[in-house]
Parts: sequence; C-alpha cells; structure tokens
Amino acid sequence: MKNTAFLVALLLLVSCSSNLPEPPALKRNFQTPTSSAEVREFTRQVAGTSGRLHYEIIGISEGGSELASIKVAPARSESPLRVLIFAQQHGNEQSSKEASLLLIHDLAMGKHAHWLDNMEIWIVPQVNPEGSDENQRRNAGGIDLNRDHVVQLAPETRALHKVFRSFMPHITIDIHEYYPFRESWAEFGGYKNFEVQVGIPTNPNVAEELREFGLSRALPHIEKHLNEKGFSFHNYIVGPAPNLGRTRHSTVDFDDGRQSFAILNTLSFIYEGINGRDGFTENLERRTHGQYEALIALLDFSHANAQSIIEKVENTRQELHHAKAGETVAIRMEHFPDSNPLMLPLVSSKTGLDTLVVVENYHPKVKTTLQVQRPRAYLVPQNDTLLMQFLDLHDITYRHEYNTHTASQYFVESIETSTDEELRNRYPDVTTKEIIAEALNETYVWVPINQLHTNFLVSVFEPQSMLGLAQRPGFEYLLQEGTPFPILRVE
Ligand SMILES: [Zn+2]
Repeated sequence: MKNTAFLVALLLLVSCSSNLPEPPALKRNFQTPTSSAEVREFTRQVAGTSGRLHYEIIGISEGGSELASIKVAPARSESPLRVLIFAQQHGNEQSSKEASLLLIHDLAMGKHAHWLDNMEIWIVPQVNPEGSDENQRRNAGGIDLNRDHVVQLAPETRALHKVFRSFMPHITIDIHEYYPFRESWAEFGGYKNFEVQVGIPTNPNVAEELREFGLSRALPHIEKHLNEKGFSFHNYIVGPAPNLGRTRHSTVDFDDGRQSFAILNTLSFIYEGINGRDGFTENLERRTHGQYEALIALLDFSHANAQSIIEKVENTRQELHHAKAGETVAIRMEHFPDSNPLMLPLVSSKTGLDTLVVVENYHPKVKTTLQVQRPRAYLVPQNDTLLMQFLDLHDITYRHEYNTHTASQYFVESIETSTDEELRNRYPDVTTKEIIAEALNETYVWVPINQLHTNFLVSVFEPQSMLGLAQRPGFEYLLQEGTPFPILRVE
C-alpha cells in the first residue's frame, strides 16, 4: 500500500515535471537573455503546473506590458514569514531576472519545499520589461525606476508599492547588477570583482535592530554560502575608484527599492551581481548562478530564523505605529570614516591578478547632522492636489475631522543650495510662527504622526530635510523664498 502511494506520488511528480517549462535563457545556455514576452509566458505556464504557484499581473508598465509575478503560498503556517523578491528595475541588469526565473523554476519543481512550512514568497522577476528588451537602465518613459520610490512617477514603481502594501512583507530583496569596468577604475589599475555584493539599509531612521541583524547575521550567512559554492562576496559598496572620492555603502535616500521599504521597518536587502564587460550577456550563466545562490542563501537563512525575523519586524513596526510627538527624527545626515581603512580586494586591470588596495577614504558610518521633533500631526492643504495625491499614493492615513485651532508654520526666509552627500539640495533658512484659526479643518487634512509612515513623513514633510519632498521632481514649488511653507505642524 505504501509502495503504491509512493508510485502514484512519483508518477504525479514526473507528469508534472514533464509539463514544466525550462527557464528560456537556461534552455539556450544563456546565449541570449529571456525576453519580456518569454518572462510572461514562462511564469504563466509554470503556475499552471503547480497548485502552490499563482500567476499574478501586478500592473502594466509604461510601455504597455503586463508585469508578471509568481506568488508561492505557504504550506502550513498561519502566519508565515513573507518575503518579496523583485528584480530588474534596471533593464540592463539581466542576471537579476534570470536568477529569479531559476528560483521560480525550483519552486515549481518542489525544490526547497520545506521553506513553505513557514514562508510565503512573492517574486516579481522583471520590473522593467521594456528596459530589459532594449538592455537599457531606464523604463520606456525614460525614468530610472530605482530613483522613483518617493514620487512614483512610473507605473512600475507604483505597482511594486501596491504589492508591498497588500502583502506587507517582512523581508524584501531588490536584485541588481553593478558595472565595475568603468574607465576611471581601469585608469586606477584595478576593478571590483565581487560576483555578488549584498547591502542593507543605511538610513539611520530605519530601526537599528533590523540593520544590525541584516549586517551581523544575514550577510555573513550569504557570504559563507557563496564562498562554499565558489562565488565571491562583498558588503555592497559604491564610490569612485579608490581615494578619488568617498567609498560608502551607498546613499541614505529612500527613493530606491532597498530603503523605501526599509523606512517602514522591513528587513530589506539589495543584491548587486557583477555585470558582463559588454553590460549584457558576457558570462551571463555564471552571473545568474551567483545571484541565484545568494537568493538560496538568504531564503535558507530566513526559513531558519523565520520566527525571530517576524518578531523583530512586527515589533519595530508597532513602534512606528506608536510614535509620539517630541521624539527626534534625523533629517540630515552624512557618511563619515571609522578608524579603519577598507582593505579592498581588486583584480589588477594590467595583470588580471588579485590585489589588495587600501581605501583611506572609506566612509562606512552615517551620523545625524540635523534632527527635528515629531509633531503630533502634519496639516496638509486640501487644495494642493499634488500633496493629496502623494498621501493617497503612499496609503498614508489622514482625516478630515479633527479639532485643533492652532498650528505652527514655517516661513522660508532664504534658500541656499548645497551638495551634501552628492544630493543637490536647496536648504531653506526658516522661522516659525503660530497660527490660530477657527476653521483649520476646512482647509487642511490631519496627518497623524503615529502611523507606519511616521519616519517617512517627517523626512519628506520637513522643509529642512535633505530627503524632503521639496527636493524632488514636481515638488520644488513647496520651497519658495519669502513665502510660508504649505505644510503645517501641530505640536
Ligand atoms: Zn540596478
């Protein structure tokens, strides 16, 4: 009887697998990457072979393509660890998509089935279909999607955030590639040769507990796994060739896929696999496998630590929901060096040999240079349609009914331009005054401070913030010399 059951199961498995399509690029030995039409076709077919995988269109791209995704349901758990993986925001970073398709194929085959005991996984293998088909960074509308997570001009970015809000993942993984072969590095004499770099958030308003857990627990696990599989790893670093400028763990801004979710206290990661010298298909098979192994490593780690990750994320999110007026939030910050230089392994562009370079200009730490106190609420003028759309776009809670007659208003005395942290910012010199008005509630909506977006709100609504909305495309009008700032604070 047992044997019969086993045979039936085996036959079912064989018959399922025989219908299972192979990832398109794999079938061609990675000679050409998977096209956007093939991504849609493959994901739809794969979902048809497995009851566990669900095909879902998450939106329509700027160029009119359906954005395909695969949602993998948990097998048992009532409250699983939710993981969102999204790849190829940048169309010229092909291996990110290919690795996601290998992972989807694995899951359809029933590999890593134990993960589904306590995890639910949503995979968006290609955020930028037109960019991919053209092998270009930007989307069909010329937008860099990974600099669009605050204003969200592109439908692709909006679709991704809609997925985030409906799924509320504990973990997000944003997959990219980096291009180490630039001229300045060649002139320097060496280039970075890490097959995968993985980074965690750098914005100091992201819960320290999450950043620390990512850095000291998840990254070493990924490094170990990659090394065992024969791939090289480094903590994600960016900057010009050594000592020509600062080397850091990327920016503090949350307009990208890593930090826009992190600022809502998500355990978030960015993957940066090495690109080909041709920025396209060179070495695509190995590039894909490196990214794939890095995914396997983090998913294994997540499965093993699911309960503690759920608790950390949910507890730190609760803290955001219970944020109080008077607490401080960083609105300007800068990277600074710690006492040790970075010993950076490079490949010599002359000899092709490994070499170790001392980076003196290493700025790994972030310190706060200006902070403000949270107000009880912000008041947003109802007749400002852009601001009202912004609230709705981010699903920020606000209400029309409230009872306050006093608020404080910033007045923009003068504006200075600055290039702090390579952001071209306009910083106002402000004074504040009290407003006492009978009918504030007829002119403004009340945006309470105790919500998931609390740190995001302070960062975008404060006029002196380096990450403020006023610094971003379409919202420059918020800051004008000799005028009041339109958003009020209730203390
Ligand atoms: Zn990228």
